[in-house]
Amino acid sequence: MNVQESQRPPGPLARRQTRRVMVAGVAVGGGAPVAVQSMTNTDTADVIATALQVAQLARAGSEIVRLTVNTRAAAEAVPRIREQLLKMNLQVPLVGDFHFNGHKLLEEVPACAEALDKLRINPGNVGKGKKRDEQFARLIEIARRADKPVRIGVNWGSLDQELLVRIMDENARRPVPLDAKAVMREAMITSALGSAAKAEELGLPGNAIVLSCKVSGVQDLIGIYRDLAARSDYPLHLGLTEAGMGSKGIVASTAALAVMLQEGIGDTIRVSLTPEPNGDRTREVVVAQEILQTMGLRAFTPLVAACPGCGRTTSTTFQELAQDIQSYVRDQMPIWRLTHIGVENMSLAVMGCVVNGPGESRHANIGISLPGTGETPVAPVYVDGEHTVTLKGEDIARKFRAIIDDYVVRKYRKRA
Ligand code: SF4
Repeated sequence: MNVQESQRPPGPLARRQTRRVMVAGVAVGGGAPVAVQSMTNTDTADVIATALQVAQLARAGSEIVRLTVNTRAAAEAVPRIREQLLKMNLQVPLVGDFHFNGHKLLEEVPACAEALDKLRINPGNVGKGKKRDEQFARLIEIARRADKPVRIGVNWGSLDQELLVRIMDENARRPVPLDAKAVMREAMITSALGSAAKAEELGLPGNAIVLSCKVSGVQDLIGIYRDLAARSDYPLHLGLTEAGMGSKGIVASTAALAVMLQEGIGDTIRVSLTPEPNGDRTREVVVAQEILQTMGLRAFTPLVAACPGCGRTTSTTFQELAQDIQSYVRDQMPIWRLTHIGVENMSLAVMGCVVNGPGESRHANIGISLPGTGETPVAPVYVDGEHTVTLKGEDIARKFRAIIDDYVVRKYRKRA
């Protein structure tokens, strides 16, 4: 490490300067906090199921929710979903995801565009040959008239094949042709930037356009977004497409998004997790929030630091307590957010033995060090670095939750 690098303070590089796009009340780009997005997986035509899932995602913290609009029934359902959300007193911005027939659906069901807050258009799925430009123009005209922003969302699984062939031909004529991956990246960026330029020519304001270029490979995604960021000032929506299930999806998404966010790239994010069968769709929202929070970019809910456990603590007590406390603060946060200011910044620690327990607990706002194997069965609690009380007995979890509740009331300013 050279001297200059060692002197650079830790933290992300300055955010990339972009235009600001307003999606209903949510600002995207232009220095606004990175917004968390998600997408429903219900049949959009099922109004109640979709409205309930949108509500779940919004309550979990999704600031923008996308839903697929693939049939006339789905398009007709969108205004009714909006009505249901209003009945639930939820104002979350809705994005319609259109492929192949978006121009038709939006023309046949004008109330659909009215009820949406943004349209996602995939330039690879707008139409083929001569129809492509004409259908793209119809979509942009609808967005322009309805005064709705558009995300031009390129995906390598549905890249415009005519454009790809043209760029491959151009590449073949270069003195030193690029490799196949570089050609693919260039084709995706050309598709996004070319479509955005065309949309502006057609009258869509430049501050109504967000771009994305999603692939499923981490290094490819980072390479594409670095180029895209350098070659435009549109806000960028980040996401690793088809990230996968469970830890694979979480790790791959986090690896890709963290690098870009650290470089100041990205104005909205989505973590595209495949849920387990009957799994909870809100997991993608929680993971997106945790990426932003652990990187110090935003705060959503108090995070619990917990040691991994080892042979020094053979009981599961500290694991159960860590899980109990993380669930507790997540459940309480919607209430605390309404009553007290700044609780999301509170830090907690649940530790398994005396080795690192007291030290880590002192670094947190509130920490507890549980007894390891062979240690006296007591659990000292530290509040703002001071040992305040020692808990013992069966109901440590309840007592520790009471200490957290008391801390919230004492330390955070009450909302007027
Ligand atoms: S704090 Fe104790 S129990 Fe936890 S990992 Fe460290 S040594 Fe093991």
